[in-house]
Amino acid sequence: MDYHQILSAIQKLPAVEQNLLIKELTEQTVKQDYISVRREKLINKQVGCPHCSSFKYYRYGKDKGSIRFKCKECKRTFTEYSGTWLSGLHKKELVNDYLDLMHQQKSLDKITATLQINKKTAFDWRHKILSSFQEVEKQEFNGIIESDETFFLQSDKGNINLKHKGRKRGGKSSKRGISDDQVAVIVTTDRKGTMDMTVATMGRIEKKDIDNAIGDRISKGSILCTDGHVSYKGFAKDNNLNQVVLQANLKQRVKQGVYHIQNVNSLHNRVKKWIDSTFWGVSTKYLQNYMNWFRVEQAFRKSICPQQDMVDCSTDDILALARYRQINNRYQMLIATQT
Ligand SMILES: [Zn+2]
Repeated sequence: MDYHQILSAIQKLPAVEQNLLIKELTEQTVKQDYISVRREKLINKQVGCPHCSSFKYYRYGKDKGSIRFKCKECKRTFTEYSGTWLSGLHKKELVNDYLDLMHQQKSLDKITATLQINKKTAFDWRHKILSSFQEVEKQEFNGIIESDETFFLQSDKGNINLKHKGRKRGGKSSKRGISDDQVAVIVTTDRKGTMDMTVATMGRIEKKDIDNAIGDRISKGSILCTDGHVSYKGFAKDNNLNQVVLQANLKQRVKQGVYHIQNVNSLHNRVKKWIDSTFWGVSTKYLQNYMNWFRVEQAFRKSICPQQDMVDCSTDDILALARYRQINNRYQMLIATQT
């Protein structure tokens, strides 16, 4: 059958099957090459120069298998990989398969065995990619916003989570059960599903931690639902936000039918379950990256091609490599918040 015969045969299919076919073909196409998308975008001038954002650049030969460009504005050269997590990566021919396996959340052992790469490479790639998720889908919050912190026990390797903050069973009572060997993650969501998960500090959060996490992303006129934590009160006051406080100890679960923090608490539970069951705990140093992974998966879960969308955002992030190289510094800064 030639193309025209196939086309006319397809047109005779019921609509449902036509849609299935589109889906099938789309998946096959994207399987071929996720990472060429950025190259196409540069050729078509859909993205700017990674150094100065100018669109006045032109093709300037090749560089080790990638296309090189030169910018008329800043006079610098770059390739489709400059600044991205793909920059300097060896064995790029394995990247598409790696992304498939990562998207299926296969273990590093499984990836290592399938691709015949060593475990360190598999681990480094994971965190280069996850570093590129950091700024993906970070829209403003508006309407009813829920925010609450949750805790993970500090860990070099495995990570045991605490089910509920401040509910210590037996043992010596410390400050509501929150000590500085626990990592506080501030989780925020609004009702349209915009989300933030920020590894904030060791131990109890302060107003500045909330401000760092979401301070510049709250739309005017929003309503902030939180528990009675004093830092949230301060944050709401400083930002002129209407705040609805749900007092857990008074069993206040919902106010006026709509104000609650149940979405955010459900996210706490789900992210912990995911970390525990998929990775058997993760080290504190990389916790932010896993938060990025969970958040971006959530953000794209309704997309037709979630994986392609995630990779597109990821390969467009020209600060990803720099961010990846900062992981250790950020970890040192986090640890320094221990008193
Ligand atoms: Zn430039």
